[in-house]
Amino acid sequence: MKRTDVQPTKCAKCERAMVSLNLEIDAELRTLHSCSHCDLRIWEAAGETLSLEGVLDEIADSSAR
Ligand SMILES: [Zn+2]
Repeated sequence: MKRTDVQPTKCAKCERAMVSLNLEIDAELRTLHSCSHCDLRIWEAAGETLSLEGVLDEIADSSAR
């Protein structure tokens, strides 16, 4: 059986569906996947997963300007 292409991101910890939020940071689109069950957060940019520290650095950088 074929599944639909768009499927919700599953939490790496508890495997529940994560909530996705699109945010524009420094003119680049970031997607934040967050799990309301265990509060795990995953950032994604252009299909790549980012470390949370890296994104926070970018936010601090852009707000300092
Ligand atoms: Zn979870």
